[in-house]
Amino acid sequence: MDFKALANKYNTPLYLYDLDHMSAQYEKLKSAFKGRPSILAYAVKANSNLSVIKHFADLGSGADCVSIGEIRRAILAGIPPYKILFSGVGKNDDEIREAIETDILYINVESEAELSRIENIAKELKKRCRISIRVNPNIDPKTHPYISTGLHANKFGVEISTAKRMYIKSKNSDNLDPVGIHFHIGSQLTELKPIYEASEIVADMLRSLQAIDIELKFFDIGGGLGIKYDNETTIEPYDYAQVILSTLKGLDLTIICEPGRFLTANAGYFLTKVLYEKQNGDKRFVVVDGAMNDLLRPSLYNAFHKLEVVSENDGKKSKADVVGPVCESGDFISKDCFLPILEHNDLIVVHSAGAYGFGMGSNYNTRARSAEVALKNGEDRLIRKRETFDDLIALEREFL
Ligand SMILES: *Cc1c(COP(=O)(O)O)cnc(C)c1O
Repeated sequence: MDFKALANKYNTPLYLYDLDHMSAQYEKLKSAFKGRPSILAYAVKANSNLSVIKHFADLGSGADCVSIGEIRRAILAGIPPYKILFSGVGKNDDEIREAIETDILYINVESEAELSRIENIAKELKKRCRISIRVNPNIDPKTHPYISTGLHANKFGVEISTAKRMYIKSKNSDNLDPVGIHFHIGSQLTELKPIYEASEIVADMLRSLQAIDIELKFFDIGGGLGIKYDNETTIEPYDYAQVILSTLKGLDLTIICEPGRFLTANAGYFLTKVLYEKQNGDKRFVVVDGAMNDLLRPSLYNAFHKLEVVSENDGKKSKADVVGPVCESGDFISKDCFLPILEHNDLIVVHSAGAYGFGMGSNYNTRARSAEVALKNGEDRLIRKRETFDDLIALEREFL
């Protein structure tokens, strides 16, 4: 990939997405569930650019959405409502109403209180709402504490005993239609065992529901499949699918999988140019034009991203922190990495930036968000313009 030419053409900081890589990841995971009915519902929050969602829509993907805004994006991008799920721990009334009116596949319910709200709103609308309940299997996914979600200590889902009560209530309601069961134990999962254990707990729950005449159609295994940021050992999609299917013997269900990071992370690159080298005592800093407002993961999770330097200088390397211009000590892209001495306008390519990159961005320090560019069949295409100062103040100006 000619990063330098693209950086010159579109300027930096810049996000680049290789759509062909996304297709390959999609097909790999989809074929792992071959022989079973399945829907891959792309977790839109990983990368919610409309052109990216449309790319998955064209591959036949569904969408897992966590706000009404994401549902609207999914529909705009061409995902049919019957392949859209609505997840998340705090949906408001307007969001629930619109989701029911849009007739999406189902809402993933995260508490008893939420189930009651959904029932009341469906009643007002004189409709039935398809629901699935997010079970919290209390399994430690052995990932970063900020991205584990399947422990009772996390805010997500309900305990098995609560879920059972909720299914019975739904079955007896005129306005609720229980169709699925859901779990999602965390993100960047790199071990099979916790997935197996969680799936087994949820499959057992499903069998106990069958025993009381509650028949579900969808077994929603969440997302979370990990990727290589560095040299991690990761899970093969085939093994992942086999482990889950092994817990479903004798059960005839459609698998719903909600991959985000797995589909987009390693298809994305964040391009940033060197502004200055600087030395504070023993400490070497490389100051670049990209910052935590563009790529938050290092600051938020201390996440590692591999760097690739495009420079004439490939001489002796020494330790440096790569930092952005934002006025926070926590504004860094990488710490203690080994880099040659760099010059103004040398390019640093940050790898694995296609998931939770642009979407977590902000306008902090009144910095305009980067442009986004897609690569497909060797061609590059702008899919989001670089923001301008006028974009940033548009909603404030009238109050002056
Ligand atoms: C974030 C999220 C996903 C996607 O997670 P990845 O780690 O990106 O695969 C899937 N399902 C739910 C409910 C989520 O919150």
